[in-house]
Amino acid sequence: MARYIFITGGVVSSLGKGLMAASLAALLQARGYKVRIRKFDPYLNVDPGTMSPYQHGEVYVTDDGAETDLDLGHYERFTGVSARQSDNITSGRVYRDIIAKERRGDYLGATVQVIPHVTDAIKEFALADQDDHDFILCEIGGTVGDIESLPFMEAIRQLRNELEPMQTLSVHVTLVPYIAAAGELKTKPTQHSVRELASLGIKPDVLLCRAEHPIPDGERQKIANFCNVRKEAVIPALDAPSIYSVPLQYHEEGLDAEVLRGFGITDAPDPDLSAWNDVTDRYFNPEGEVTIGVVGKYVGLPDAYKSLNEALVHGGLANRAKVNIKWIDAELFEGDESEIIAELEPLHGILVPGGFGERGSEGKIASVRFARERKVPFFGICLGMQMACIEGARSAGFEDASSTEFGETHEPVVGIITEWMSDEGLEQREEGGDLGGTMRLGAYDANLSANSHVAQIYGGSSEISERHRHRYEVNSKYIDPLQQQGLVFSGMSPDGLLPEIVERPDHPWFVGVQFHPELKSRPFDPHPLFAGFIEAALAHSRLV
Ligand code: GLN
Repeated sequence: MARYIFITGGVVSSLGKGLMAASLAALLQARGYKVRIRKFDPYLNVDPGTMSPYQHGEVYVTDDGAETDLDLGHYERFTGVSARQSDNITSGRVYRDIIAKERRGDYLGATVQVIPHVTDAIKEFALADQDDHDFILCEIGGTVGDIESLPFMEAIRQLRNELEPMQTLSVHVTLVPYIAAAGELKTKPTQHSVRELASLGIKPDVLLCRAEHPIPDGERQKIANFCNVRKEAVIPALDAPSIYSVPLQYHEEGLDAEVLRGFGITDAPDPDLSAWNDVTDRYFNPEGEVTIGVVGKYVGLPDAYKSLNEALVHGGLANRAKVNIKWIDAELFEGDESEIIAELEPLHGILVPGGFGERGSEGKIASVRFARERKVPFFGICLGMQMACIEGARSAGFEDASSTEFGETHEPVVGIITEWMSDEGLEQREEGGDLGGTMRLGAYDANLSANSHVAQIYGGSSEISERHRHRYEVNSKYIDPLQQQGLVFSGMSPDGLLPEIVERPDHPWFVGVQFHPELKSRPFDPHPLFAGFIEAALAHSRLV
């Protein structure tokens, strides 16, 4: 029987509920329990795939092809459990499904309403698709009191009645602000937030109180008294020096013990935290340091490249190196050679990440050229690989080489695909079709050429599986001229039609991949491409 932990947030947004859920799951897992984490998003988009990264941060992609909230990335990175389509639901998806059913006549005769139809759909989602899990953690997006999260709160309230008495637990994340002028921590916002939650019929069992200053015993007791929980269930959650410290810190504060107590579990094994101790030891005691330049478009908002940022850090953990990331706006470079040199010369590695649209593409291409000519380690991801191919084609004499994503071109080195094979068979898309959910999405296999650099990076494997999210592909018509120019196609889709990886044997480390390896990197299991890239950057740092 799975036990449910419902995680809500109060007072303000951005308290880090996702990281908190991931950390609690990691602690339960360290005690030997099987966990799964789910995210309920109250907005009306069917999924975040069509939202700007500036609105919502990165779109995370699962193996089974769901475009999801970036919190699912935290969940995967902290637990190593691959998320699924069934782990993220939005109000938009709930309403879409209900309205489709209504049109089909499935509710014939009934008035379709938020209660019970929407709440039932949410409950079904919470209970669906689970196999012998000990704990399912459900994080509700937004803040208590938001109009749009009300159906989710109501569904939780009902579930807490319908499931067994000790089968559910409510964790509420709040803020205990420090008022500098008074020199005091304030508990009132937490009291109000708990009252708001209680007015929806949900009594929290554990309060996780985010604070910048230690919460003295007296204040902890006060929160407990006013919020109707025991003092030990008021867990101080102080700002951590790194996200990797969070599980260890919460464990010290007694979070996992209190949660288990709430379920009446008294015989839980002690947690094995060796993996977290190893990660934090590597993180806080680096023996080397590199600076990587990420030349992209959404550089004003680090959340837009969340997984990439993390994967670079993991590459550092693999090499016991600190990774400094310099976010560079690709638009800065368009046309000005001296600007490029000034920005890129001090770097130990250059990465062009995934992205959409023409803006900044010439700056990205110029960065590829710089890395190729100066023999600086280069890593191109998705759009970055496409830019590496366009740069290669231009230097091979195709001066107008471009992508059809940027407008009409008579040298479409990168073009839209309208047909491809997935596990489900032939997938088709019309050129002017819907934009939502219609990319090549999720895990696809690729075959690696024997003796290639990537085969070596992947430890000698000849077959890999990586996650995709793109609409355009490198045009196989250009493979021969590009190979003659020195850009080798060392990874292809199993049917041999779609280029997956390019590399330059005459360069110390130059790899472009059509997929997103950052989505599968974990702190305990850094992705080999990131480990290899940082290793090459360290070697390069010793030369410059
Ligand atoms: N815009 C490119 C495409 O759709 C690349 C996408 C990406 O980098 N994720 O193919």
